[in-house]
Amino acid sequence: MLKNDLLEQWDRENFFHPSTHLAEFARGNAPQRVITGGQGCHIEDRDGTRLLDAFAGLYCVNVGYGRQEIAEAIAEQARELAYYHAYVGHGTEASITLAKMILDRAPDHMSKVYFGLSGSDANETNVKLIWYYNNILGRPEKKKIISRWRGYHGSGLVTGSLTGLDLFHKKFDLPLAQVIHTEAPYYFRRTDVSQSEEAFVAHCVQELEAMIEREGADTIAAFIGEPVLGTGGIVPPPEGYWAAIQNVLTKHDILLVADEVVTGFGRLGTMFGSEHYGLKPDLITIAKGLTSAYAPLSGSIVSDKMWKVLEQGTDENGPIGHGWTYSAHPIGAAAGVANLELIDKLDLVTAAGKTGAYFNNAMAEAVGGHAHVGEVRGEGMLCAVEFVKERESRTFFDASEKVGPQIANALLAEGVIARAMPQGDILGFAPPFCLSQEEADEIAGKTARAVKAVLG
Ligand code: PLP
Repeated sequence: MLKNDLLEQWDRENFFHPSTHLAEFARGNAPQRVITGGQGCHIEDRDGTRLLDAFAGLYCVNVGYGRQEIAEAIAEQARELAYYHAYVGHGTEASITLAKMILDRAPDHMSKVYFGLSGSDANETNVKLIWYYNNILGRPEKKKIISRWRGYHGSGLVTGSLTGLDLFHKKFDLPLAQVIHTEAPYYFRRTDVSQSEEAFVAHCVQELEAMIEREGADTIAAFIGEPVLGTGGIVPPPEGYWAAIQNVLTKHDILLVADEVVTGFGRLGTMFGSEHYGLKPDLITIAKGLTSAYAPLSGSIVSDKMWKVLEQGTDENGPIGHGWTYSAHPIGAAAGVANLELIDKLDLVTAAGKTGAYFNNAMAEAVGGHAHVGEVRGEGMLCAVEFVKERESRTFFDASEKVGPQIANALLAEGVIARAMPQGDILGFAPPFCLSQEEADEIAGKTARAVKAVLG
């Protein structure tokens, strides 16, 4: 129960909200919502409105809300030992156990886990490890990182640079010079509408090859990508994309970072997206699904190949100069252990694959035939509906019409939360893995009504 009826005023006067129109919010023109509870796939706000959260927070509450097992594990850890650091060989039962549990689930060639707090800081760690690695190997020039347009890797300095979305660069003096962007594997948005999927993959590969040629392979350290593009539009890769990209990277001795912040721990119906698409990454970024967001925790999973060089580096230079007060925080680690145990116990990875396929079909049936729906796409428990002004010619709406946000608002009025993705008129869905088929049908049906309300 809330005790304070001045919350709205205090919020607008004091709280700097992320990803928010600051001026409109302060003026009282942008919406405000105080969330008070959650259970399963639903959240509730202070007015008693119950909403079906079809985006699992920010695609992170994978096991659903209100899981007492995780709450208990957090409480027990807090009572026993709320904090100790992980520097110079210190640990807790929770952090050591979680590292082992992650590696038991990760691809075989992965070796160690470094723990952070967010997806952004984990990618920051990755870039530092990549630079350290090439310095130890005596290749001080090999430092640039290739990312994709529309990739999302965080919003720090280097991670905001890796992110390939205009909003995250504009007026922030980003991207930094060490980061360069290549073509997004976004077949629906190919320039030439008549191009086949195979030809489009060849085009992505040619773009990458040309960039490496232009910059010089000896200046490029790594390539980072999400197995399925997430915030950039929820776009599964075209057939054959990852195998072809990986060949190019291997040829030029360029490391691969699989950013699995969204796809890690089951969202595609497999434990990792790397497994799903046959990737052999040198680093894997994890966050969100590691604790289902019950506590902040992220990780960089380091391969055997990189680990050997990191060990060599500390033999030559002393302890690694990287670490945060809250690395491997015991409360986050306890939440992670309980979360992964729950995923196993309820077989939620299988559920994500099965219900995800059902949900994607239901959505395609509900809205796929609408004249302004250009594409319904997805993989596992990820789904997107992309809107077009005209289907035949694949013409897009002008951004100023705000078609995506309008539809997301209409859907919210129906009691369902989806996300208007930041670039393009794309409605994104990433429900918790415990979604039932009835809830999947409800989301699809209400989406059809919301689309009709806005676009006729
Ligand atoms: N990487 C990916 C693929 C993400 O989707 C996100 C966040 O959405 C991040 C990194 C950044 O994570 P965080 O917001 O925890 O910093």
